[in-house]
Amino acid sequence: MKYMTAEPFRIKMVEPIKKTTKEQRQQWLKEAQYNVFKIRAENVYIDCITDSGTSAMSQNQWSAMFQGDESYAGCSSFYRLQESVQDVFGMPFVQPTHQGRAADYIMAKIYCRPGTYAIGNMHFDTFRGNAEILGATPVDYAIDEGQDPTSDYHPFKGNIDLEKMEQLIKTKGPENICVVIITVTCNNNGGQPVSMQNIREVSELAGKHGIPVVIDAARLAENAYFIQQREPGYENKSIKEITREMFSYCETATMSSKKDGLVNIGGLFVTRNEDVYLQANQLAIVHEGFITYGGMSGRDMDALAVGLQEACDPQYLEYRIGQAKYLGDLLKARGVPIIEPTGGHGVYVDGRRFFPHIPQHEFPSQRLVCALYEEAGVRAVELGACAFGSKDKETGEPIWPKLETMRIALSRRVYTNSHLEVIANALGDIYENRDQYRGMKLVYEGPILALRHFTAGFELL
Ligand SMILES: *Cc1c(COP(=O)(O)O)cnc(C)c1O
Repeated sequence: MKYMTAEPFRIKMVEPIKKTTKEQRQQWLKEAQYNVFKIRAENVYIDCITDSGTSAMSQNQWSAMFQGDESYAGCSSFYRLQESVQDVFGMPFVQPTHQGRAADYIMAKIYCRPGTYAIGNMHFDTFRGNAEILGATPVDYAIDEGQDPTSDYHPFKGNIDLEKMEQLIKTKGPENICVVIITVTCNNNGGQPVSMQNIREVSELAGKHGIPVVIDAARLAENAYFIQQREPGYENKSIKEITREMFSYCETATMSSKKDGLVNIGGLFVTRNEDVYLQANQLAIVHEGFITYGGMSGRDMDALAVGLQEACDPQYLEYRIGQAKYLGDLLKARGVPIIEPTGGHGVYVDGRRFFPHIPQHEFPSQRLVCALYEEAGVRAVELGACAFGSKDKETGEPIWPKLETMRIALSRRVYTNSHLEVIANALGDIYENRDQYRGMKLVYEGPILALRHFTAGFELL
């Protein structure tokens, strides 16, 4: 397959995208208070704000949708989905939900108790929100290499630090740790994978103390591919053998199907514990819908049943992970500082090293997001001072996060390598002119601090 390095699909249907002028984009940025969440998607040339729900579906997924069974109870679409999920997860009980955060909510409601701690590598913000509402404290214990954007190559920067985990169990007592959540891959620090060894050891340590383990599995196939490529002993295993082993170490998994489900909407709550399943059914009925649809239409479940299988295809994964690396390599060639190695679903630019003269309280990564949109109509997202900044509960003093990045998220099967070249060229040029940029001032936050990046307003300094 020496020459077959291009995208492993051809395009049968196209969606036009609009070219715009810099003057127009400057105007739209101003109207959006320099928050790209408030820009109309039609005014974006290349949209890398997220990889969530933005996948292009295959011809097999579209045809599966025509078989959708929209019966309220016991529809055949559910059984097709259940079979596909059991095949990939190796777990018996499947409760669909309308999105990942609904599965997070059900999971938090079942596992979190007031006054307890939830250990994770880096908790996803929707779980963090749900846990906090239920009175539990989420703690992030990704290994040090994973929390330092300048750290050298490490194959599994999403790993949990076992020593820190053991220390917390000791000091707080195992009865006060309600759950351990392993997010694969770890989104917040670059889509970095978690090794099988780490999943196994975390599970053993938790099991010794009777603490349940949950896997937040939005990017399960991407994580499995990294294990296959990087972890000794897995090079000859299939992706599904690897995913099944990953889940053999947890009791429950939640999933946002909008990532590796290769669909535009949907979520999953999967477990091997029947009592947990029965509780999840009750919560789903109240909040989502009956057990066999959980807020999904029959046709959407059929698309997901097929999408999950396609996500485990090694040729697809080679292309997928290869795209992030391709963009990362182009950026490195222009000197742009990124988190290395590149992870699964995008490239993360280090805002601190990109704009060393802009202090964190002036939002360097947000400034970069705006510059990239202004110059090239490319929409990325800030994961730094705005998204992860918090405040001291007593003094109200701002607390700035360790990681200060701009994420260029890559939608699945959507953009070609020429789109990625546009992004690399634009960012390379901005980097050459980096001295000309000043920081930003946050002028509006919105009501919920943890979600302010969606609603914030800025001014240019
Ligand atoms: C996207 C995501 C969620 C939330 O899922 P939604 O489908 O957006 O509600 C939870 N966890 C992780 C790791 C995610 O990437």
